[in-house]
Amino acid sequence: MTVTTAAPAAYACDEARWQAVHDRDVRADGHFCYVVTTTGVYSRPSCTVKLARRENVRFFPTPEQARAEGYRPCRRCYPDDSGRHAVAVRAVARACRIMDEASLPPSLDELARKVGYSRFHFHRMFKSFTGITPHAYLAAARARRVREALPRSGTIADAVYSSGFNSGGHFYAAATEILGMTPKAYRAGGDGAVIRYTVAGSSLGPVLVAVTDKGVCGVLTGDEAPALLHQLHGMFRQALLVRADGEFAAAVAAAVREAEPPQLGRELPLRVRRVALAVRVRRAVPAVCAPHG
Ligand SMILES: [Zn+2]
Repeated sequence: MTVTTAAPAAYACDEARWQAVHDRDVRADGHFCYVVTTTGVYSRPSCTVKLARRENVRFFPTPEQARAEGYRPCRRCYPDDSGRHAVAVRAVARACRIMDEASLPPSLDELARKVGYSRFHFHRMFKSFTGITPHAYLAAARARRVREALPRSGTIADAVYSSGFNSGGHFYAAATEILGMTPKAYRAGGDGAVIRYTVAGSSLGPVLVAVTDKGVCGVLTGDEAPALLHQLHGMFRQALLVRADGEFAAAVAAAVREAEPPQLGRELPLRVRRVALAVRVRRAVPAVCAPHG
């Protein structure tokens, strides 16, 4: 196989290239692409598609060369079209902004249309860039609004309706999952709750996870752990906060590792990527550490 002079020494042999594909190493993107001969599809090294068997993989210095041999570009990582990839990233970021700001959530059809894609294509693209569905992002935006509104609003009902829930019943059905305690307790600064928390590291900065005996009451992301701790204390002034180590911390660390959003969306705004991470952490945490009563 030909080795381009442009490729750094690190990707100069097939072994190093295979290692990069195995690790889905984004630094290798642009240096070469690989073909899975059984599917006839070529990808960037960082593509999130299921890892192929080594014996079915061929390397090419450029996407053009793979195409010239009759292979097709992957529809997940757009290996030969960085322009198209950038357009897709911008569309996903714009859709997230719309969902963050809309008090009345748009339908998935409307949302896809607004950013210039069909519903089907948009859904698949959103999920492959963020690791969550547009619906999950929308639910997270609404949950964030209600968490912020609860302590400030005159009544629980005011907070619920101003956050975009179309019925109180809908909110109450999801309240424990969103708040990790009753709306009344949440509103009162976690009054009476015992909250265990820990901080785990992620590629997007520290992640603070806090739980009660009912469920997850906080997943906070940011640049600095002390700021997250400060935020937690501000949210739950009336609760007993207990820093938990050992088994709980290890389980949370594993859940956070598991929840890392896909590399394909690494050009999305950090804020969007942290929302996706938090959604995925919330899903992973109850499974790995059933709270003690
Ligand atoms: Zn691909």
